[in-house]
Amino acid sequence: MIIYNTLTKKQEEIIPINAGIINMYTCGPTVYHYAHIGNLRTYISEDVLEKGLNFLGYKVNRVMNITDVGHLVGDGDSGEDKMLVASEREHKSAYEIADYYTKAFKDDCQKLNIKWPDTVSKATDNIEEYIKIITKLLETGYAYISAGNVYFDTTKFPNYYELSGRNADDLMVAVREDIKDDEAKKNPFDFGLWFTNSKFNNQEMQWDSPWGRGYPGWHIECSGIAMKYLGERLDIHCGAEDAIFPHHTNEIAQSESYLGHKWCNYWVHMGFLNDLNGKMSKSSGEFLTVSLLEEKGYDPLAYRYLCLNSYYHNSLTFSYDILDGAKNAYTKLLNKTKTLKDEGTLENYESYIDKFKDAINNDLNTSMMVTLVYDVLKDDNLSGKTKRYLINEFDKVLSLDLLKAQDNTIDLELKAYIEEKIALRNEAKQNKDYQLSDQIRDELLAKGIKLVDTREGTSFEIIK
Ligand code: AMP
Ligand code: ZN
Repeated sequence: MIIYNTLTKKQEEIIPINAGIINMYTCGPTVYHYAHIGNLRTYISEDVLEKGLNFLGYKVNRVMNITDVGHLVGDGDSGEDKMLVASEREHKSAYEIADYYTKAFKDDCQKLNIKWPDTVSKATDNIEEYIKIITKLLETGYAYISAGNVYFDTTKFPNYYELSGRNADDLMVAVREDIKDDEAKKNPFDFGLWFTNSKFNNQEMQWDSPWGRGYPGWHIECSGIAMKYLGERLDIHCGAEDAIFPHHTNEIAQSESYLGHKWCNYWVHMGFLNDLNGKMSKSSGEFLTVSLLEEKGYDPLAYRYLCLNSYYHNSLTFSYDILDGAKNAYTKLLNKTKTLKDEGTLENYESYIDKFKDAINNDLNTSMMVTLVYDVLKDDNLSGKTKRYLINEFDKVLSLDLLKAQDNTIDLELKAYIEEKIALRNEAKQNKDYQLSDQIRDELLAKGIKLVDTREGTSFEIIK
């Protein structure tokens, strides 16, 4: 697969470290509030990337963190911890805030058909990992203690500016606001690895460490969690473009200084969702969440459809007009795909599968993937069966529920009956009684109910 690599500033063929398997790390949410649909655009793109790689035959090992401590209001180690701000806002403990918004994020992912990564780990569950890394960075001279905190010395890491491709003066102008107020640092871009009470004495989440009771910086958590679950070398690391500096730059500096070798080969960054004021954020303009879209009558998948029609790397400007356009197009598309008859023979599908693979290969060209759905629908040389087959295949990556029967259109009693049969079939499969499991599948098929097995489990389609 060809993808744009921020590190080399080129489109490159992904060559995995271990043949057939891709180690992928994606920065997770800071769970101090609901995710806005801009955050979720990034997770949709990462989801399509993972599913696209699966479609090409790779197994993807994906890990994501949940930031429940350490992310300060200013990325340059200034301001309070975002979790603390939220607990004051809502009069709850930081742990309650984290649990509540993690669950809300998971619900949003489900509504948008974003697969939950194989491993999701909370920053607060990996404190020993950060202590181990920081201890070595201090021993090898990459880190120093100042005013009770531990900082990474960015002047010790020669490739510090490689990922951002910007020089120090240029960056200094760009982040001037963020870096002004920590006099404990030796150099302006140095960043906190561990904070103690000397910095914030009202921090609720604290742990003992060799440097005093305190808590980790934000960047160290991603390095620690990625190394713990994926080992010393990563194939792909993703995030939105604002993570390039300082977050990913700092992740590289501390990880490579700790490991003594290159850490990650491909850095993939997603473009912003903008609103009319610029980058969408939680604090400016209307706070656009998935629930708000639902309240206004939009299917969350219409938003997914909207995102898939743009190139992940570019920014996308949101307006209700373009969402209405996406909603109309998506509804019309569903009207076509869901009424396709399972008729004729399965044939002539290979060239479409190849074209779909080409679209994935071509730096994740999702709008081309969507166009191929329309091409299949229009193609008079394809049977209904072939169209359904192809659309079902494409939907493994697009995840737009293009063929899935809508629950509200089927009788509840019938639904309960099918679910009971699926459970019996799962049991038969577990007991390796494949004769019985096939028999159940065929009985249902004879009644016009087709079972669809996916990695997430078995679903069904009513086909007549
Ligand atoms: P946060 O929960 O603030 O840590 O952000 C979660 C993810 O969303 C990070 O990868 C951010 O870089 C990304 N992000 C934040 N704002 C936007 C936006 N307007 N558009 C796309 N991604 C964003
Ligand atoms: Zn991260």
